[in-house]
Amino acid sequence: MANLSPMMQQYLDIKSQHKDHVLFFRLGDFYEMFFNDAINISKELELTLTGRDCGMPERAPMCGIPYHSSEGYIKKLIEKGYKVAICEQVENPADVTKGIVKREVIRVVTPGTVIENSLLSEEQNNYIASIIIDNKAFAICFADISTGDVYLTEQKTSNVSVEVITELSKFMPTEILFNENLVSLKEIGEFIKNKLSTVCEMYDNEVIENSVCINEILNHFKGQTLEDLSLTEKPLAMKALGGLINYVNKTQKNGAQRIVKVNIYKENQYMGIDITAKRNLEITKTMRSGEKRGTLLWVLDKTKTAMGKRYIRKALEQPLVSLSEITRRQNAVQELYQNSFIREELAEALTNVYDLERLMTRVVYGSVSPREIRALAFTISHLPKVKEIANRFQCNYLSDVNANLNTLEEVYALIDNAIVDEPPITLKDGGVIKTGFHSQLDEYRDLCNNAKGYIANIEEKQREETGIKNLKISYNRVFGYYIEVTKSNLDMVPETYIRKQTLANCERYITQELKDLETKVLSASDKIQALEAEIFDEIRKFVASKIDEIQQSASAIAKLDFILSLATVAQNNNYVCPTIQLSGEITIKDGRHPVVEQMLKDSLFVPNDTLLDNKENKMLIITGPNMAGKSTYMRQVAVITIMAQIGSFVPASSATISICDKIFTRVGASDDLAAGQSTFMVEMSEVAHILKNATSNSLVILDEIGRGTSTFDGMSIAKAVVSYIAQNKKLGCKTLFATHYHELTAMENEIEGVKNYNIAVKKRGDDITFLRKIIRGGADDSYGIEVAKLAGIPQAVVTHAKQILGELEHLNPEIKFVKNESKENDEIEFSQMSFESESNHIIIDKLNDLQIDTLTPIEALNVLYELKKLV
Ligand code: ATP
Repeated sequence: MANLSPMMQQYLDIKSQHKDHVLFFRLGDFYEMFFNDAINISKELELTLTGRDCGMPERAPMCGIPYHSSEGYIKKLIEKGYKVAICEQVENPADVTKGIVKREVIRVVTPGTVIENSLLSEEQNNYIASIIIDNKAFAICFADISTGDVYLTEQKTSNVSVEVITELSKFMPTEILFNENLVSLKEIGEFIKNKLSTVCEMYDNEVIENSVCINEILNHFKGQTLEDLSLTEKPLAMKALGGLINYVNKTQKNGAQRIVKVNIYKENQYMGIDITAKRNLEITKTMRSGEKRGTLLWVLDKTKTAMGKRYIRKALEQPLVSLSEITRRQNAVQELYQNSFIREELAEALTNVYDLERLMTRVVYGSVSPREIRALAFTISHLPKVKEIANRFQCNYLSDVNANLNTLEEVYALIDNAIVDEPPITLKDGGVIKTGFHSQLDEYRDLCNNAKGYIANIEEKQREETGIKNLKISYNRVFGYYIEVTKSNLDMVPETYIRKQTLANCERYITQELKDLETKVLSASDKIQALEAEIFDEIRKFVASKIDEIQQSASAIAKLDFILSLATVAQNNNYVCPTIQLSGEITIKDGRHPVVEQMLKDSLFVPNDTLLDNKENKMLIITGPNMAGKSTYMRQVAVITIMAQIGSFVPASSATISICDKIFTRVGASDDLAAGQSTFMVEMSEVAHILKNATSNSLVILDEIGRGTSTFDGMSIAKAVVSYIAQNKKLGCKTLFATHYHELTAMENEIEGVKNYNIAVKKRGDDITFLRKIIRGGADDSYGIEVAKLAGIPQAVVTHAKQILGELEHLNPEIKFVKNESKENDEIEFSQMSFESESNHIIIDKLNDLQIDTLTPIEALNVLYELKKLV
């Protein structure tokens, strides 16, 4: 260490406090990395690895990036799971007379704490999660530092893993902090590893000690008590929040200032849509490409603002379960739905609203640019128009929104008076503050702009006062401004002149007045820069102090935009307002799939009815050929239910929706090889998850089960699952179950609440036409070969397949397709399902062989044990 250059010592000192971070060390216009960081990151970012003398025999490995283009590099590193510590020069190198420039880490950029627009998606929140797990309880805090959204919950549960996973699925955080109890819960660990792309860090125990967290919270929310924050009797929630604030304070120079309000929510406050259902129902991302186009969000999102976009996504990920809350939203949608004039006006006004939330984050964190602060003012200038429209609202929801919409005149007035209309990109470019706003600044600018004029004035005045006609004022680097008098006029030079230089035919002088002016002129441009920065910072601080009101307006805008979007889509797509109730019945008349109907180009979507309840119509078994529309139909029911529970209108001619607590899906076959699971294992674990977690108020979509194994195994599992779900004593929840096991249709007669449906097709010769209409009863054929032909399987193969089928049917008449209506056939099916196991035969044989008369009690017991083992 002693031989190291001072700069390298400084580097290593700082690095020792940031061992887990990539250290971006500012040297002039570059961020440099050294040693291992340089070796690793040069590979990750494809940078040239060089070296730098460091006082040791070998050069230190080094790579660097220009500081002005650092955002792109940071983005790449964050996406790869690194955390980047930004170390800046914290004093002006020009002022350093001795030693090296002081440097400090001003911020650690982590995936969950980024605030730069280029690192964030406008349409999505970016959450960091803080999880505290105790024995039979847990708390999670989700915070989006870039918007100020904070959600906190503490829940008691017998199944911590499932509930934590449910919460994580809702918010999909990009970074997770947790206490050590999480480590033993493997399920959560696997979920995080396989389903979320997150960076994780375990809390040190001291950081989440009770007293430390209370202090952290009270320090942060100055003036508020734990009671005000609704945190009393929530010890875990306190730790989750306290730990998170501590982490943000540690990683961000400006701390956790953006956190101003904490929304506390309870378990079961929202509908549970787990990650599988979200994926299968394509709520926000398509299954195939992960895009927004082709999803429910894509259909419903006609929002105009970034706040609205984030809100509608959040609403879709967390549908409501409270009848009154849903009805409030519905009434709001209804009001705008009925008033096209207001809709148009509002849409136009909202078009001019920029991302208030993220602009405010940059204001609060001090990284706002002059252009951004102007954008903020531009947005605020449109709020009175929005307010004027909002004043006309009648319903409770919209009136409440209106009450929270502040027009922020004071903020607008200040920015508008102070900042020029078209400011430069950075403060350093100058010319940010308007003339007339600050007298001192105007004076400096005047000096700068009119220096020549002032000198000419002094020259003129001096000529008059001294009578020296050819007196001249000039400038050179050595003396600055000086007065030149020719030899012939030296006798007229006043005493106040201070001689500086004698030349062959003239003398040069300075005066106090000239010196004063010179100092002012020469330092004016520096002063202008410093003063502009100071004024800008004051304006920024003032705007930052209004964070509460601005945040309130931002959320009001988000809600307005959300309701407007739902109303617009309802109007454009011909949706109706569903009746929401709690009876357990779901009745949909002429329901359509909102996404499929938008995607169909050459044909019209065929509407279908649905009747589900908790009694006779609990479980619908849907059969029909491939491509008939089974999946579309089932998803349509789930998606309509979700739409209804976010307060949206739905694609149907009428609908009555009973509130569901959770939606589960099990759809198609997919490997999860990355998680070490085969197709069948994925299928079975999804089914297991549903059976364990669904309640009688849930809606379950099962699109095939048991297809990944042998027919008999698969069918047995499918039948047992149907039976388990359909029985009230076991689960008894509303279920749509599509299957190619036509044998399952026999269950309509066996279990109460099971009803058969099929999707009609018309067969003409070898060809089939899909009618897309759902009708009662099981399908009359599977049409597999016909569909294969439609899909383009070569004719020769199709013909051969038919031949093989014919032979199979001939050899095994019982495997011929079963017509479900006939009682006779039901029996055949049933016998097909009751596979006698070998062990049964062995047990019967053993019993037959027993000589009961000669058995001793001990022997009898042994036999019983043996037989039991065989069961
Ligand atoms: P498989 O058993 O092979 O999974 P499926 O019966 O589930 O097939 P879907 O995937 O639901 O069939 O539907 C196939 C296609 O039929 C859809 O992509 C859609 O284009 C069209 N379709 C489905 N339902 C309708 C409808 N009601 N009206 C018009 N087109 C429909």
